[in-house]
Amino acid sequence: MVNAAGANAAELTAGIDVKKRKGHLVITDRYPRFLRHQLVELGYLKSAHSVSRDSVAFNVQPRRTGQILIGSSRQYGAEHKEVDQVMLANMVRRAQEYMPALGSMSAVRVWTGFRATTADKLPLIGPCPGYKSVFLATGHEGLGITTSLGTARLLVDQVTGTKPEIAVEPYLPSRTAKEYAHA
Ligand SMILES: Cc1cc2nc3c(=O)[nH]c(=O)nc-3n(C[C@H](O)[C@H](O)[C@H](O)COP(=O)(O)OP(=O)(O)OC[C@H]3O[C@@H](n4cnc5c(N)ncnc54)[C@H](O)[C@@H]3O)c2cc1C
Repeated sequence: MVNAAGANAAELTAGIDVKKRKGHLVITDRYPRFLRHQLVELGYLKSAHSVSRDSVAFNVQPRRTGQILIGSSRQYGAEHKEVDQVMLANMVRRAQEYMPALGSMSAVRVWTGFRATTADKLPLIGPCPGYKSVFLATGHEGLGITTSLGTARLLVDQVTGTKPEIAVEPYLPSRTAKEYAHA
């Protein structure tokens, strides 16, 4: 059995150290040829690596439709999926500082999601200590889509007992063993 329930993983397997980190996203109307590639401020790394503070960072990505995806925000302790207007305003303001023309565009949708975070900022991929036949594949924070192929490789190799092509140690759930003492 693989617990790959993302930010909800801890609800299914007791003792997992996975917390929710809320994020907002905005998608604009279609503005073909306005933006050709993703733009991210360097401060995004700082924002992504802070494990305690709420933050926003400029991160825009063009869609094939001509729409522009605007991010990103990070919030701890926010369990509800409702849009937080203050956080949203901060995020959009930040984006406009880097790209003022965004201010004249129409947004067609705003939504939120939850990233799955771990204390050491690395995902949990492998056997779950304290459980027989339970594997974990969660805790990918803001990189779970980008790293999904690597996660699948790591997981399959461990489930089938194949010599892993990628070092598994940094991602083994057992590294956080004290978290499982009460599981
Ligand atoms: C605002 C925001 C922006 C992001 N931007 C990026 C980005 O640019 N690049 C990137 O790589 N990643 C990004 N991410 C992170 C990415 O979305 C996640 O890392 C990725 O989706 C994790 O994949 P997952 O399959 O582990 O979990 P999820 O995609 O969360 O999938 C978990 C699944 O488990 C299901 N589930 C939950 N609870 C239960 C239950 N009790 N029973 C059964 N099923 C259950 C859910 O319905 C869901 O289908 C972003 C996340 C957010 C919130």
